[in-house]
Amino acid sequence: MTGSLLTECKNLIDGEWCSSSNGKNSDVINPATGENIARIPYSSKEDVHSAIDAARKAFDDGGWRKSPVSERSAILMRLADLIEHDRDRLARLETINTGKSIKQSSNYDLPYLVDNIRFLAGAARNIEGKAMGEYVDEGTSAIRREPIGVVGVITPWNYPLMMVVWRAVPALLMGNTVVLKPASYTPLTTLEFGKLAQIAGIPRGVLNIITGPGPEIGEEMARNSQVDMIAFTGSEEVGRKLSSYGSASLKKISLELGGKAPFVVFKDARLPAAVEGAVVGGLVNNGQDCANSTRYYIHEDMVDEFESKLIEKLKEVKIGNPLDHGTDMGPLISSAHRKRVEDYIKLGMEEGGLLKHGGFEPKIEGCEGGFFISPTVIRTENEESRIVKEEIFGPVYTILSFTDYDDAIRRCNDVIYGLGASVWTSDMNKALHAVRDLRFGTVWVNEHVVVPSEMPWAGYKHSGHGASLSSYSLEEFTNIKHVYFDVSGAVRKKWYYQVFGSER
Ligand code: NAD
Repeated sequence: MTGSLLTECKNLIDGEWCSSSNGKNSDVINPATGENIARIPYSSKEDVHSAIDAARKAFDDGGWRKSPVSERSAILMRLADLIEHDRDRLARLETINTGKSIKQSSNYDLPYLVDNIRFLAGAARNIEGKAMGEYVDEGTSAIRREPIGVVGVITPWNYPLMMVVWRAVPALLMGNTVVLKPASYTPLTTLEFGKLAQIAGIPRGVLNIITGPGPEIGEEMARNSQVDMIAFTGSEEVGRKLSSYGSASLKKISLELGGKAPFVVFKDARLPAAVEGAVVGGLVNNGQDCANSTRYYIHEDMVDEFESKLIEKLKEVKIGNPLDHGTDMGPLISSAHRKRVEDYIKLGMEEGGLLKHGGFEPKIEGCEGGFFISPTVIRTENEESRIVKEEIFGPVYTILSFTDYDDAIRRCNDVIYGLGASVWTSDMNKALHAVRDLRFGTVWVNEHVVVPSEMPWAGYKHSGHGASLSSYSLEEFTNIKHVYFDVSGAVRKKWYYQVFGSER
């Protein structure tokens, strides 16, 4: 199906493309067919050390760190141009490696992440802080934003290239050097990013990429005292482990973790808009988006109508070969992940849910080995069911009814996650109350999933801390330094009486 030869990939360490030092490799699979499409280095601890040493040296040498931000920005702008120029090739590669539809890769992911880079590269030149000023009567103070040092970036498989942009690009722009580890399922566009970054002019050692087993490489990066910060996007479980590995060296750990987004439809909502929004909110990225709507709280007077209209629309969604432009939805990332989603569906029914739609593995011609699953709708009134509380990360709609505003908001907030939530209503006062009361990093009103480059993407509670996109993501990769200039010129300053001399 791919028509591509098996690709042999290498690590990028100190500007050189190299195999793993132990000679081991692992396979990369196309989730739409189950075919091997590439071999990647199964890197060892020595490789991690080499990558960290290269990043440390590049940081300590100071060329990148001390370069004017305009130069770093220009390099990243060039990289955005190169990615844009290669958009079709990269979109196809992303689709072959993740199973997301080609129309999403080429018309959404690629143009969006190019825009993310351009925004960040521009905003990096416009970082603001307190004005230099006199805060005590004999001195002038200023703030500097400085790079943190060597940043270990660990990314997930659902948006491989976009997550590299969200985490590695702001780190680089602010003068840090980077060791980047992509998810083993989806390293291919990350390695292409490395090639294009070299062409754009990123100096050797400033960006290093290693592939291999997450638990070993990630743990080594988090424990290593030569790494100053970990920027992790992935599951809550691994985020928690990284926090504990990093605690011995007290490094900064920035975490962007899972979600369990509620989708609340009040009685005064425009039902057709809410139904279309639900189809997209639940299925974008084949239902493997941390922002996917998953818990549908629908006012009790309209829950049956919402459910039947949703199912009608879901029947229109075309599941198929993700490389076909007519396909709406491709496979899940792996056979193991599909089993996990299916286990949740079974569990939902054991815990009192009713299967209203889907729940099967569709057979796709030409993609018989793929990990497809149909969009699935479960109706439940068991608020304590694990399908209501835990992240499934698949195209599973859980529909529940609510009685009034307080009931809906309380149940929305009653999960460990706090990434995104949406409310659907034509009453602006109610919307504004919900915006205030929902404990989530993003709240959409009459929409779900949209995040412009200029706005922060950040979690509450177990969805993590820190921010992606916006100028907040640039600040995330800086230390803040206070610089104080004495302006009195005095030998004995007024406050020295505290140590010697008399108080005036
Ligand atoms: P994951 O946590 O399994 O893996 C993420 C990365 O961590 C991979 O590179 C993996 O190799 C590595 N890893 C695995 N075990 C590790 C360990 N013990 N120590 C260090 N690193 C380790 O997550 P995933 O399955 O790749 O991605 C899906 C998860 O990511 C979901 O929970 C989703 O909600 C979350 N996500 C969050 C955001 C966000 O912006 N908040 C964005 C995308 C995905």
